[in-house]
Amino acid sequence: MKKVVVLGSTGSIGQSTLEVIRQFPDKFEVVGIAAKSNVSLLLRQIKEFKPKYVAVYEKKAYEELKKSVNSTEILFGAEGICEVAKLKEADIVISAVVGAAGLLPTFEAIKAGKLVGLANKESLVMAGQIILSESIKRGSKIIPIDSEHSAVFQCLNGWNINFIKNIWLTASGGPFRGKKLKELKNVTPTEALKHPKWKMGKRITVDSATLMNKGFEVIEAHFLFNLPAEKIGVLIHPQSIVHSLVEFIDGTYLAQMSIPDMKAPIALALAWPERLPNVVPSIDWSTLKKLEFELPDTKTFPCLELAYEALKVGGSMPTVLNATDEVAVEAFLSGKLKFIEISKIIRKVMDSHIPQEPSSVEEILSIDRWARKKAWEEINR
Ligand code: NDP
Ligand code: MG
Repeated sequence: MKKVVVLGSTGSIGQSTLEVIRQFPDKFEVVGIAAKSNVSLLLRQIKEFKPKYVAVYEKKAYEELKKSVNSTEILFGAEGICEVAKLKEADIVISAVVGAAGLLPTFEAIKAGKLVGLANKESLVMAGQIILSESIKRGSKIIPIDSEHSAVFQCLNGWNINFIKNIWLTASGGPFRGKKLKELKNVTPTEALKHPKWKMGKRITVDSATLMNKGFEVIEAHFLFNLPAEKIGVLIHPQSIVHSLVEFIDGTYLAQMSIPDMKAPIALALAWPERLPNVVPSIDWSTLKKLEFELPDTKTFPCLELAYEALKVGGSMPTVLNATDEVAVEAFLSGKLKFIEISKIIRKVMDSHIPQEPSSVEEILSIDRWARKKAWEEINR
């Protein structure tokens, strides 16, 4: 029995994780879950999975849970979430809180030497260097859950890094693939949230529409696989069957395929170094007629280039990139910013940032706060 903690259990990745665990009750036991405020779903999850510990970020939700549950220890706030992230009894921690809020608990799990199934890419974008050094120091292994990185992880499977020429991260292209800049002028949040292939939380869905998600994934790949930006390419692949490719120095490629369902990379992280049977259905080759690939249109979707730039500048710039994007997406979703202005706000905040070399998570969080403030100033201007 592997004992599992699920951070962000009420979200898209969290619920898919619990679905895999539900399918294999003799292999996994949920010992802790954490979320922000979704009390009704937490109550259902507590009833079904009987975790020993539950942490919730918001006060009101905490008080409601305290009133309704007595068999489970209820913890509160960012501190409570960090407690669950480093639970002594946990064998694996699934890090699936969304956004910068995922950084501290991910870092705590790593400091505690846990095996981490990492969905929260933002923590690597914000603090990749610090997280990686800590994971080496504490012997904590990170298994990527992001489907592209899971694909690269599977294709690399033991090959020495010197044999890699490039990796190619695939992207569906999002709901606005093929559109030109002027057609995106007045797109609404509802349109941006209509992802053609994946059902995900709102932040990552908007990030997929701007291609910032792919930009974050380039930075994530840089840290996970120790590759420079020049060796990380992006390919638009609308069918979302090939989840990424590794190109070796001899000119050959390995690709990983499956139907687009996050349960596949989640199950791989949960079961690693083993595999679980029948997690997702086979590809239906009778209906899948073609696999297409094309290079991204970075004129229409400038966020991807902004992410490459932030990675090349390095230091605190990726932290600023993430914080500003988080604010800009929130502003877009609440009608305060146009879709095409997201990249402009990020450009402005990046231009006004003097890169630093943060050496602690506290410094990272302080840069994150600076960028958020700056981003709101630009939006309100
Ligand atoms: P969702 O928005 O669906 O879920 C977010 C989860 O985080 C919820 O459980 C939410 O709780 C919780 N949460 C939010 N803020 C806090 C906080 N301050 N403290 C504790 N918990 C918090 O997001 P996704 O599941 O889509 O994404 C999660 C992560 O996985 C992201 O980093 C994303 O980039 C990554 N990812 C997601 C993929 C997907 O297919 N969805 C694919 C690849 C990566 P509550 O419900 O109570 O608000
Ligand atoms: Mg991905």
